[in-house]
Amino acid sequence: MTYDVVVIGAGAAGLMCALTAGYAGRRVLVVDHANKAGKKILMSGGGRCNFTNMATTPANFFSRNPHFCISALKRYRPEHFVELVERHGVEHVEKAPGQLFCAGSAKELLDVLLTECEWAGVELRLKTSVSAVERQGEGMRLSTSLGRIEAGAVVVATGGLSIPTMGATGFGYDIARQFGLEVTETRAALVPFTLTSHWKARAASLAGLSHEVVVRCNGGEYREPMLFTHRGLSGPAMLQISSYWQAGDALTIDLLPDIDTFDALAAARRETPKRRLSTWLAERLPRRLAQAMVEWHGGDAPLAECSNATLTAWAGHLNDWHLKPAGTEGWRTAEVTLGGIDTRDLSSKTFEVQGLPQLRFIGEVLDVTGELGGYNFQWAWASGVACGQAV
Ligand code: FAD
Repeated sequence: MTYDVVVIGAGAAGLMCALTAGYAGRRVLVVDHANKAGKKILMSGGGRCNFTNMATTPANFFSRNPHFCISALKRYRPEHFVELVERHGVEHVEKAPGQLFCAGSAKELLDVLLTECEWAGVELRLKTSVSAVERQGEGMRLSTSLGRIEAGAVVVATGGLSIPTMGATGFGYDIARQFGLEVTETRAALVPFTLTSHWKARAASLAGLSHEVVVRCNGGEYREPMLFTHRGLSGPAMLQISSYWQAGDALTIDLLPDIDTFDALAAARRETPKRRLSTWLAERLPRRLAQAMVEWHGGDAPLAECSNATLTAWAGHLNDWHLKPAGTEGWRTAEVTLGGIDTRDLSSKTFEVQGLPQLRFIGEVLDVTGELGGYNFQWAWASGVACGQAV
């Protein structure tokens, strides 16, 4: 079998690249070892896929080579993808500023990509494994469960390592290393934290409770909701900061971001000395959290009886809570992989390996990782289109 382009991976980036190359007149085959295309699209955004963020800029991405993503993101912007989904009549909603989700189900979005692939003449072969990718003259040769396939170019779009049960593998990294590319250290990101037994029990007692906090770690800072879970802490605040966190680091959590607790408690002590500390807390935190804070830290009393040292301690508990997670939930639940194929030996315009244009890498397999909020799909679309146009 001979194709102009063989794409390995029928995920967001691979399908986008395939349909773009197909429309450009290339004979394209997409292979995937999974039994279904776009599984992560289907499970993303709680089944409604946060498919882009209208405010995407290169600053929303982590990479050892931060300039690499600029060109593709500039050329294929969120409004281009919105135009595509609207052309197919897929309704969408803006859940948070800039974050677009399907109004119905993520399946509608996957159907857009599969329909476009069909219109563009792309062949899709699922349940197909690839055992070897080798250079063959000016082209490439693949050994697959379909037999030997010759291709003018191979595009590797095998994604990251998160959710192995959805088909994630490190195969893209293996191919990169085989052709002399470096792979930066990979780490599970956009992932909930687990806690040590003492704090785990406390978090579990509040499981399901969400509260807006400011969380900081290693220069990262997010103001988003934090969710207590049976295993630890989750919610957008924790998922976002997990991209900055390294094993052993403490998080700094501000439970009352708009309040200077010491000053506010000192003023309340002057103005309402009989009010109890627990009442003051319950007016500013969700009731269950306020009760738990008093149980955890003790010292509930009328404010008049609270010394400055007590107020300072409460300012620490509320504005500057230092918490060391035990770890993260890891690849099992992580939304993305931080790190990946080092982009310094790739063209940011065509995604080809320098000196080997018949081999290209796109999407999450690269060392380009977005924040939470639709940025990772925008990278998949933008890198897929740039590569599909050039290949
Ligand atoms: P993928 O979509 O992962 O596709 C890779 C494909 O390669 C898969 O089909 C896989 O089966 C195939 N493959 C892997 N190894 C092989 C192999 N050896 N041989 C053949 N095929 C192989 N991002 C957002 O922007 N918004 C969201 O709402 C969002 N929600 C998410 C929710 C969850 C639970 C998860 C896990 C991720 C979420 N993401 C979200 C991240 C987003 O899904 C990914 O960044 C995006 O799918 C990456 O696209 P990709 O095409 O590079 O890789």
